[in-house]
Amino acid sequence: MSDKLAMFGGTRVIGKGSVPPEQIRWPVITDAEHEATRRVLDSGQFTSNSTGGGEVAALEAEWAEFVGAPHCAAVVNGTAAIELALAAAGIEPGAEVLVPALSFIASAVGAVQRMLVPVFVDIDPVTYNMSPEAAAAAITPRTRAILVVHLHGLPADMTALRALADRHDLLLVEDAAQSHGATYQGRRTGTLGDIATFSLNVVKNLPTCGEGGLITTADPDLHHNVVLRRQFGEDLRGGRERDYVSRVLAGNAKLSAIQAAFTRAQLARLPEYDAARKRNVEAMLAALAELPGLVLPEVPADRTHAWHILRFRFDPAAMGHPDVRPGALRAILHRALRAEGVPVQPYQLVPLPMQEAFRTRAGFGGYPWKLGGDVRDGEYPETTAVIESSLTLQRWHLNPNSGPVLLRCAEAVRKVWDHLDTLIPIARSADHQSKAAV
Ligand SMILES: *Cc1c(COP(=O)(O)O)cnc(C)c1O
Repeated sequence: MSDKLAMFGGTRVIGKGSVPPEQIRWPVITDAEHEATRRVLDSGQFTSNSTGGGEVAALEAEWAEFVGAPHCAAVVNGTAAIELALAAAGIEPGAEVLVPALSFIASAVGAVQRMLVPVFVDIDPVTYNMSPEAAAAAITPRTRAILVVHLHGLPADMTALRALADRHDLLLVEDAAQSHGATYQGRRTGTLGDIATFSLNVVKNLPTCGEGGLITTADPDLHHNVVLRRQFGEDLRGGRERDYVSRVLAGNAKLSAIQAAFTRAQLARLPEYDAARKRNVEAMLAALAELPGLVLPEVPADRTHAWHILRFRFDPAAMGHPDVRPGALRAILHRALRAEGVPVQPYQLVPLPMQEAFRTRAGFGGYPWKLGGDVRDGEYPETTAVIESSLTLQRWHLNPNSGPVLLRCAEAVRKVWDHLDTLIPIARSADHQSKAAV
């Protein structure tokens, strides 16, 4: 039996202030980022326009090449990217878009901003991505698009979703905000649907020094429609001079040059960082293999994981305690692990449709829902079960030097597992108390 748990006064595995910042800092900022941002300041060219001069155009070309997509448009953030991708396809207001019930809220908000009704779809319990079977069951005559998220960096089941989209003539949009560089059957995310969106937010695998987004597609018309809509509907193709003629209703969603330059410096190191992340995460997962009731992320053989977020699931039955509710076990493990210095946290507290904004539908006076038929509230048993029974690690492992600290995290998990006999009765009695209180 290892040392007493830190939550009961024992020594923390990861002591306060004991993690060197250079192992966990994100993003990593080197001379290249300083040089890139200074280059923009010295150039005096701070904004992009759709003629695509300078840093923005260079980032678009480099990202298109990296993912293997013919076209790329840079925009102001990943949420705007989703909006613009849906706008570019010209889907009529009130139409339905399938969205996974487990994702960041932006996946659904992008649709609502376009007056499209998000119809939530339960997930696959192994990949945590949209279940193709549940998606098929959610299709109605009003469905126009499937917005699939490659959650945590693992590509979704694109063969099945592509077939489903083709069968019903639906647009297939990839929300690839978490999956820069990940591959599915040898192709990178960003080339697996009709159009794809990426975020360059500072917390993502390909960050900028603030906010940014990218949209890739193989379809020249979709690309053109995006480019028109990121600058007031103006057509600036081929270096045409700005004429201030708005050809379609659209706002302003252009990326700034500093953001593009910073991301170009990051992109140059993305393959190296990806490889380091893979090594570090795999070593950590190897150190956690075979702990009873600890379910590690699985990567199907036909894809690679970008390891944006690490999700750990707990199974009380596999620990020999089928009577303990997963949520109660999760709560005590959360306390125990954080006390040891492991910054685990939930990712999403409820399925997306349970978010207050979607339950009340108050924001736009009941629109876009009023436009459509009645969208029934579904059941999301897998999403609910995954949220209740798991915790995530975010951020630290993005740093390519996080290998040592991840092994210390694994050591802390093993220590907590050594004390399950103490923790399980606490979970059980907390549950009895909460039941008694109801
Ligand atoms: C971060 C994120 C977004 C939104 O990107 P922003 O650049 O923050 O607007 C969209 N979808 C998913 C799945 C995300 O993780």
